[in-house]
Order: sequence, then C-alpha cells, then structure tokens
Amino acid sequence: MGHFKAWVVEKTETGQSLTFKDFDEADLMDGDVTVRVTHSTVNYKDGLAMTGRSPVVRRFPMIPGIDFAGIVEHSDHGDYKPGDAVVLTGWGVGESHLGAYAQRARVKGDWLVPLPAGLSPAQAMAIGTAGYTAMLCLMALDHQGVTPDQGPALVTGASGGVGSVAVALMARAGWHVIASTGRDAEGEYLRGLGASEVLDRAELSKPGKPLAKERWAAAIDAVGSTTLANVLASTKADGAVAACGLAQGMDLPTSVAPFILRGVSLLGINSVTTPQPKRREAWARLARELDHDKLAAMTQTVPLPGVDTLAEAILEGRVRGRTVVEIA
Ligand code: NDP
Repeated sequence: MGHFKAWVVEKTETGQSLTFKDFDEADLMDGDVTVRVTHSTVNYKDGLAMTGRSPVVRRFPMIPGIDFAGIVEHSDHGDYKPGDAVVLTGWGVGESHLGAYAQRARVKGDWLVPLPAGLSPAQAMAIGTAGYTAMLCLMALDHQGVTPDQGPALVTGASGGVGSVAVALMARAGWHVIASTGRDAEGEYLRGLGASEVLDRAELSKPGKPLAKERWAAAIDAVGSTTLANVLASTKADGAVAACGLAQGMDLPTSVAPFILRGVSLLGINSVTTPQPKRREAWARLARELDHDKLAAMTQTVPLPGVDTLAEAILEGRVRGRTVVEIA
C-alpha cells in the first residue's frame, strides 16, 4: 500500500473543491480488482463532476473520471490476472465509486471489459464513454431496422465527443450524414470525419412545429430539449432517433404527433449500466468499425495535472471531439 496522485473533489461550506493531491491507496473503495490507470478521458459528465454544476458526485471525497484504461495490478476476480489490459466505463465510477483521475483504481471485476483486440489503451480512451455511447446509439438504430436507403442520418452536437464518433461511425455504415453544429469553423473537421452536409444547430434549437418537413430517417441526438423535439418533428415516417444526451437541456417539449402520425421511434440510450454482452459487442464493433485515422483526427491529449482546465470548457461546448488524459 502507498500513496498516489489523484484529483479529489471534496465538500466545502460553499459547495465543493477540486485539488490534485496525494491519495492513500488504503482509502480506495472495495473492489476485487486493482488497476494501474494509464489513460482516462474528459466527458461531459466529468465536467459536471469537477465543477459541481450538476450534482453527479454522490459521495465525498470523490476522485472524478468516469472511464479508464489500465493494467491489472491485483485481482481476486476469476476473469482477470495481473498484467491484463482492461477498460472501464460507467457503473457510477467517478460519481459514487472513486474514479479514474488517479494513478490507481479499485473496482469490481464485473465492471471491466478486456482491452479490445486492435486498440491501444490510448485509443480505447480516445473512444471512451462518449464514443462507446455513440456505438450504442448506432446499435439501437440497427436493432430498430432503419437503413441508409430510407434517407439521411442526422447527428446533433456533432463537434462534441459523442457527436464526432457518431459522425464517423454512421458515415462508415453507409449513411448520408448531416452533422448539426453551432461551430461555423468546424465544417471542414466534420466533413473530414465523414459528414456529407453540415447544418447550423440554430435551425433546431428554437421551438418549432409538432410536425415539420420530413428530412432524415435516423438521428443520434446528444443535445435533448427543444433540439430533440425538432429532430423528432423532422424524422421521416418509420424512422428512429437514438437519444443519449442533454447538452441543451433535460426537458423534451414535444408532442405525440411524430410517434402516432409518422410511426417515429424514440430510442433511449444509457451507457452506464449496459449489461456485459452488449458492452463487449459495442467495444468489438468499435475496434472493427472506427477508422483509426479519424479517431486520431478528433483526439487531443492532456496530462493528468492539466485535466481541470477542460472542466468548464466541455460544459460550454468548447472542446472539439475527444480528449485523452495521460495518467502515467
Ligand atoms: P461534448 O460537450 O463533447 O458534446 C456536446 C456537444 O453538444 C457540444 O460539443 C456542442 O456541439 C453541443 N452543444 C453544447 N451545448 C449546446 C446547446 N446549448 N445547444 C445545442 N447544442 C449544444 O459532450 P459529450 O459528447 O461527452 O456528451 C454529449 C451529451 O451526451 C452530454 O449531455 C452527456 O451527458 C451525454 N452522454 C450520455 C451518455 C448516456 O449514457 N446516455 C453517455 C455519454 C454522454 P456543437 O458545437 O457541434 O453544436
């Protein structure tokens, strides 16, 4: 047992503090696998945890960081042994269980997946929770039976983490991708990832009609609120929308019109507690289907001590694509 470096969120009289400090390994929470964390990422939820903007931290002190890749150091779990490379997303890590912005993590082995063949730990975290969620959205649309011959696919929040991976995956799957963004300057970036058209998100962000012109057969929405209502209103008959995010808001000011008059399906996506078989299928598909050059083009890297500088930026929609946090 020893000490290691970690970001720690603590409760204060006025709210919460975030400090980079030594953490005693003896204070890690229960779990049957201890991992030397090598990489993590910055997701929207990490921004919420670090700033306290929304009460996602449900235990203090908390080490934020909802996902990691690393090497098993100690294991009492039958599936893992020291030296195994593993990946973790979700399960309340970084929210109710001590998280990834640290050199060590102790978790339940049942929460881990083996590092997928064909991906390095850094690439797995370039994908991270956001990219894995984009794949869950694509799998939900596939399961629903919508196909590229029915029309285009819209991706909202396209320059963000979920959005960037979704654009690349949907284009690879043969969709004519319409990427909705609020960032004028990112048109070329989004076309580079595979978008065929770029849409100004202002067209979707203000209150619209319950039903509008049919424009896309499928959508992946990371934005929620009025945007999701407008996405549904313009989805073609028998189309489907996978909803995973709330970057604009938690509300959904819509009507039943798209559902009962056009047979549109709204598919909810929760990446946190996805069962193991679906988790492993998603990671296997990511390893096969996500172009490595596109992944590299959407990824920046920060060292662990600098991760706090991105907390506000991701909540304000100023971070492009994905960010890997190098721990070692
Ligand atoms: P990012 O901040 O990287 O991306 C969000 C994007 O949404 C921004 O880049 C921006 O894209 C757009 N956006 C931001 N604010 C607004 C606004 N006010 N109105 C319209 N668009 C806006 O976050 P992530 O990609 O990591 O996460 C996206 C969402 O998905 C978050 O709400 C997150 O909580 C959720 N999520 C949910 C998961 C689940 O299990 N359901 C798992 C992972 C994420 P642009 O500039 O291109 O318009």
